[in-house]
Parts: sequence; structure tokens; C-alpha cells
Amino acid sequence: MDKKLRLLIPGPTPVPPQVSEAMARPMVGHRSKGFAELTARLTGKLQQIMQTTNPVFILTSSGTGGLEAAVANTVNPGDKVLALVAGKFGERFRDLARVYGAEVIELSFPWGQPVDVAAVKEQLDAHPDITVVLATLNETSTAVVHDIRGLGTLTRDHGAILAVDAVSGLGGVEIRPDEWGVDILVTASQKALMVPPGLALISVSDKAWELIAKCKSPRYYFSLEAARKSLAKWNTAYTPGVSLFFGLEAAADLILEEGLENVFARHRLLARATREAVKALGLKLLMPEECASPVVTAVLSPEGVAVDDLRKLLLDKYGVLYAGGQAELKGRVFRIAHMGYADRLDVISAIAALELALSELGYAVELGKGVAAAQKVFLGGAN
Ligand code: PMP
Repeated sequence: MDKKLRLLIPGPTPVPPQVSEAMARPMVGHRSKGFAELTARLTGKLQQIMQTTNPVFILTSSGTGGLEAAVANTVNPGDKVLALVAGKFGERFRDLARVYGAEVIELSFPWGQPVDVAAVKEQLDAHPDITVVLATLNETSTAVVHDIRGLGTLTRDHGAILAVDAVSGLGGVEIRPDEWGVDILVTASQKALMVPPGLALISVSDKAWELIAKCKSPRYYFSLEAARKSLAKWNTAYTPGVSLFFGLEAAADLILEEGLENVFARHRLLARATREAVKALGLKLLMPEECASPVVTAVLSPEGVAVDDLRKLLLDKYGVLYAGGQAELKGRVFRIAHMGYADRLDVISAIAALELALSELGYAVELGKGVAAAQKVFLGGAN
């Protein structure tokens, strides 16, 4: 028998059976009355999950398509864009702005650390002509959650819009775009939303529409005006990923049945148990706990253990897929996701496998110590 795959990477994440079942439904016409009704229902559910009253557009693309839509619709050549970079996905948003000809002001922070809001304020004060600020909610490469609420406080009083990459966060990490002043919020289906890859979601504020109306950059597939016109008829501009829409509605129902607050609390609990477990094994976290992600944990590889060897052993022998480090963190960290369709026993099995693999690679661990630390967190109750 093939090994049972335990998918513990930060996307794609495991898909609940209710979602797979919904996706297996027979095909329908995307211009049919039934599909328009689905789009209307789904939009309302997504607004609840994204905690916004702004329109939410569903684009058939991966998350990067949503990020490109955010940039292509708001950034003209020569515009001043402030890019906050503290990991690989902050770099990606920055690179997109460069591709669209922006004069990018890059504010970088060490990978594994949070964005310093005071430093952002200095830049905004020094450059009143900045039009767009690009930020990341959950920097997947470092497992750090950034202070989007703090950034929103700054951009609210400034001409700039705040565009947030919440691709790996949304549905597991709290974000309140309307309350916090986020103008463009981008996420994707394959992370905490528990759906296979292929959809990007993007919400847009009135302040952002003003910029979009003036933006001259070329866009076609990712035109938000086109998306808006179609959504007025509960439609999409081009043929959508119909089956993914079915799956997304099933996932949205699961999230809303559990209750958003409970979903966030579950992720915080799983993250805390994971952190306590790895610390009990004598391992160190990459990120400070105050800003540690609820959906993914980045662990520094212990002295003498090669990350690639550890990941290979975990996968080949135990069917457990951890993520490695990206870019400058390659070989230095491994990452354990607890994102989306994840529960307490997923953490326990992930840690049990880690203990076995570390022992086999010659790193001294007391078997069961990490598992016990996680169990203690669970017995301690809700976070
Ligand atoms: N931003 C973040 C924070 C991500 O984690 C990812 C995917 N790992 C992306 C953007 C890119 O999304 P996609 O691979 O769906 O294009």
C-alpha cells in the first residue's frame, strides 16, 4: 500500500471530504441561473469570512494572480509604491510593483521579524506621494504575522491605499479589513480555506476604486472593472473554475458552521501546541512568539541535522510532508503547517514523526517529550 500522505505544507493543504464531494458534482453552465445563484450566495459567505462589506471577486488563478490584479489595477509607471519586505512573499509583491513600472521604495526587515510600524510611518511621512503600500498578513516563508491593523491606522490618514497579501492567512489568521483600513485584500483557495489551488479572492474598498478608475496600466484578464461589471449580474467575466466554486462554497459552509472565532481559536491552539512541542525537543523557533503565525510554524534545523535529510526521511518513511526553508532560509528551517483542515491529532502525529525522524538522524531526543508538551497544551483547553 502507498503510504498515507500527511500534507503539512503551508498550501496546498488537505481538503475536507465535503469539499471533494462538492467538487465532484456534474458540470453546469457558468451563465446559468443556478450558477448565478451560487455566485451570489458564495459572495455573501466570503464577505463574512473576509469580514468585509466590500465586493469580493473570485478570480480563476492562483494567489499570485490576485496579487497581480491588485498591482495591475492600481499602479502606474512611475508611481511611488512602498513595499514592506520581510520574506519571500513580501519580495514577490515588491517584484510585481517593479514589473508594472512603479518607483518602489523598499522597506526591508530581517526574515523572521515583524514589520516595524514606526519605520513605515517615517516613510509615509517622508513621501506623501506614495500611492500604494504593499504588505503581507502572514509571511509564509518565515511564519510571522505582521501588524496589519497598525499599518491600516497609518494609511487611513494618508493618501495611499493598503494592499494586503493574505494568501496564506485568511481563514486562519484574524484580519478585519473594513475596521483596520485594508483597501485591497487578496487570498487564495488552497491554504486556510481548504480548497484545491486555482482560485484567488480579492476585495476592494471605495478608496481603492478611486485609484483603479485613474489607473492606466494595461490589464485584461485581471481587470477589476471587468470583474465588477460581471459581479453586478452575479457572473464572472471569463469562464470560472466551476468545480472550485462548488468546493469553495462547501468550505465556506464548514468555516461558518464552526464559527470564525472558533476557527481562529483552533488555529491558535494548534500553533501553540506545535511551538511547545518543538521547544520541548530542544529545537528553536525562527520567529518571536509574539508574532508567531497561527497557521504555520518555522523551526530552525538543529545543529548536525540537514533539513533535506530530515524532510526526505519524514516523507519516505512516514508519509509526512513538511516544508523546507525558502530563499535565504533554505537549509536553515523547516516549516510545519497547521492550516485549514487541521486538528489536534494532526499536530500529535506530526510531532511524533518528527521525534522518530530526529532520533534516526542521530539527534538526541527523548521520545514522547514533544508529544507530551502538545498534549499538555490541549488538556489546558482553549487559548
Ligand atoms: N503569498 C503568500 C503569503 C503565499 O503563501 C503564497 C503561496 N505560498 C503566495 C502569495 C503565492 O500564491 P500562489 O502560489 O497561489 O500563486
